[in-house]
Amino acid sequence: MPAVGENLRINSERLWDSLMEMAKIGPGVAGGNNRQTLTDEDGEGRALFQKWCEAAGCSMGLDQMGNMFARREGTDPKALPVYVGSHLDTQPTGGKYDGVLGVLSGLELVRTLNDLDIKTKHPIVVTNFTNEEGTRYAPAMLSSGVFAGIHTQDWAYEREDAEGKKFGDELKRIGWRGEEEVGARKMHAFFELHIEQGPILEAEGKEIGVVTHGQGLSWTQVTVTGKDSHTGSTPMPMRKDAGLAMARILEKVNEIALSHAPHAVGAAGHIDVYPNSRNVIPGKVVFTVDFRSPELSVIEDMEARLRTEGQRIIEEMEMEIAFEKVGGFDPVAFDEGCVSAVRDAAEKLGYSHMNLISGAGHDACWINRVAPTAMIMCPCVDGLSHNEAEEISPEWAAAGTDVLLHAVLETAEIVG
Ligand SMILES: [Zn+2]
Repeated sequence: MPAVGENLRINSERLWDSLMEMAKIGPGVAGGNNRQTLTDEDGEGRALFQKWCEAAGCSMGLDQMGNMFARREGTDPKALPVYVGSHLDTQPTGGKYDGVLGVLSGLELVRTLNDLDIKTKHPIVVTNFTNEEGTRYAPAMLSSGVFAGIHTQDWAYEREDAEGKKFGDELKRIGWRGEEEVGARKMHAFFELHIEQGPILEAEGKEIGVVTHGQGLSWTQVTVTGKDSHTGSTPMPMRKDAGLAMARILEKVNEIALSHAPHAVGAAGHIDVYPNSRNVIPGKVVFTVDFRSPELSVIEDMEARLRTEGQRIIEEMEMEIAFEKVGGFDPVAFDEGCVSAVRDAAEKLGYSHMNLISGAGHDACWINRVAPTAMIMCPCVDGLSHNEAEEISPEWAAAGTDVLLHAVLETAEIVG
């Protein structure tokens, strides 16, 4: 006889119906959604989520950033809860699943446990993080960032939208500013189910992405100073061509990234050439090298080699160079125990799966700083996201939610 919950599956139809019902709030112009953060539509979506959670027997917590926490009690009052969730806000021309699947799959797993009267030792909390998208209020993942201590709440409240309306004022206006201190909650673990927003799972024919890492990035701004002079009358040996120096450095950037194949990447997406005139040899170039990798040591190695190689090239060419780190985001290594729980769940349920590295940022990337965390990804058609045409199949949504359910049960411990 299988153990309690062994063959458990979620109710795929009910999950899909809830996704479609939520998508009616803040409809887009092309079949998707425009439910941007802290709009009236966001408020409506929250109210519907709360109604559903209360009908499923959960109590709702609300913190001062408007993060929502629907709690299903566990049997041990001292056990820390297992959290699941994502975000209900969308891009202005967003899809029906980005974020929403991660929240409503949590609700569906609670409903499934209720159906079968399954109890867990640890409480389960379904979370909706405010303003993940970062379109109306930059930056993205604002409220999970405050929760994890990356930003202060005062700073977040002062963020302004394009019309000059402040985050703190709009949160209050829509009626979703709670009393609870942000980040005071402690989590036993956190799981986020999200659509891939990339093409890999579909291309590989896999139902489940086991997300092991989130990619980190580093931006170094490089300024090369040579000497402007006439392109026609300056003899070749006398030139100080900053454009040529940049070309040689970018060749190195490519080599450096390739030396850490397959995951590392590097390029200069932003280039300014001075004076940018057809008949003047560039006297100065300013460009930003963007390196990305899921490993911090690789990013550090690429940054260091850019500086050494750049310096060497410039000394040979008798020019000047300056480097400035202008941005970055450390890679995320998700918790091994939580990642294993996800992989084991996919394996046990017979879903095809593969390891993935998340190229995009997610709430889970910040929560990973304060709790053991993992992500599950399901495919989306053509890898398309942040687009109203974003599409997934009910089967993909169900597979992801089944895996979420079993990873959570493994972590929250079934009683009885
Ligand atoms: Zn998202």
